[in-house]
Amino acid sequence: MPAFRLAPLRSATHSWFVEKSRHDMIQFSNVLDLLRILRGTAQSLGLAPISQGLLDLQGQLLHLQVQVLEQQMETRLMQDEAARLRGCLTTARRLQRVHEAYFVVNSDTDVRGPYCVTCWDRREVLQALVEAEEGAGYCPNCKATVETSRKAEKPKSGYSLRAEEQSAA
Ligand SMILES: [Zn+2]
Repeated sequence: MPAFRLAPLRSATHSWFVEKSRHDMIQFSNVLDLLRILRGTAQSLGLAPISQGLLDLQGQLLHLQVQVLEQQMETRLMQDEAARLRGCLTTARRLQRVHEAYFVVNSDTDVRGPYCVTCWDRREVLQALVEAEEGAGYCPNCKATVETSRKAEKPKSGYSLRAEEQSAA
């Protein structure tokens, strides 16, 4: 039987799925145990064809169990990917680009950043920039140095680069 490394639980759906998977595997074990007992009985009664039939059935059931495990694994991976994409979408909706950095604007008073544009755009990684000098940030991940602000300001909710450009003009 293949070894499975279970990812940490992330939601009620996950825990429901894990519980159902466990239940399915218990059902398989119960039926396999029953087949083993029946086969022992058939053997002790000298019923060779029935014993062979039960052995074949055990083999088919084991094959089916492996298929179910593989499907469960695939479902888990798809659930994880869906959760990751949902998270990315939530973050992407709150991102505002200012100069060469992203900021996550949760509210007027909750603005986080600056984050690396390259790391987010290419790999959806929200990498905080380290302040390199006044108005510049350094990404420890992709090693880029970028302009984060001209006036060391952070964006407010509703902030737009266009508005800033207009006021600067
Ligand atoms: Zn980066």
